[in-house]
Amino acid sequence: MYAESIDNLITELSKLPGIGPKTAQRLAFYILKSPDTEAKKLSEAIAKAKLAMRFCKVCYNITDKEVCAICSDPGREDTLLIVVEEPMDIISIEKTQEFKGKYHVLQGAISPIDGIGPEELRIKELLDRLKNSSVKEIVLATNPNVEGEATAMYLARLLKPLGLKVTRIASGLPVGTDLEYADEVTLSRALEGRREI
Ligand SMILES: [Zn+2]
Repeated sequence: MYAESIDNLITELSKLPGIGPKTAQRLAFYILKSPDTEAKKLSEAIAKAKLAMRFCKVCYNITDKEVCAICSDPGREDTLLIVVEEPMDIISIEKTQEFKGKYHVLQGAISPIDGIGPEELRIKELLDRLKNSSVKEIVLATNPNVEGEATAMYLARLLKPLGLKVTRIASGLPVGTDLEYADEVTLSRALEGRREI
């Protein structure tokens, strides 16, 4: 319907999460209508962020430094560690302002159907990190769905023999909901009500 380059822009925008074809079309026309400098700023911001992005070498959160801001914050407790699936989950938990420990990002969950086994996740890195660390409690905050539960069970079996307190966030979260979409109050309660497994 449109010139190829415009069609292309709409296609690329519609690949973004939560953007349907109509919104993609609206965004494309907005970008095309805006001054050249604005459109350029957007494309440069994407390219720069992508180029600067790396994984924190301690927790595997996304950052633009070697060690992320949370890991290098001296005001955070070293005794409490929350294990999450994705960097986005850290943002959700941070919003609750309930947690002053540190994180470990698995970068996914165990999912045999998708060919994701424990070795595809940052589990080895977690175990390495726990050697000579002052962590006393690990909160397993993987998503309350089949993959997240399987991952939590797998980790609990690995971690409990290390003499650590291993807890799982409470089931205040609706089953099947990703942490990313949970509201702050629900997530706060889920963290508060975590239980030992
Ligand atoms: Zn980090």
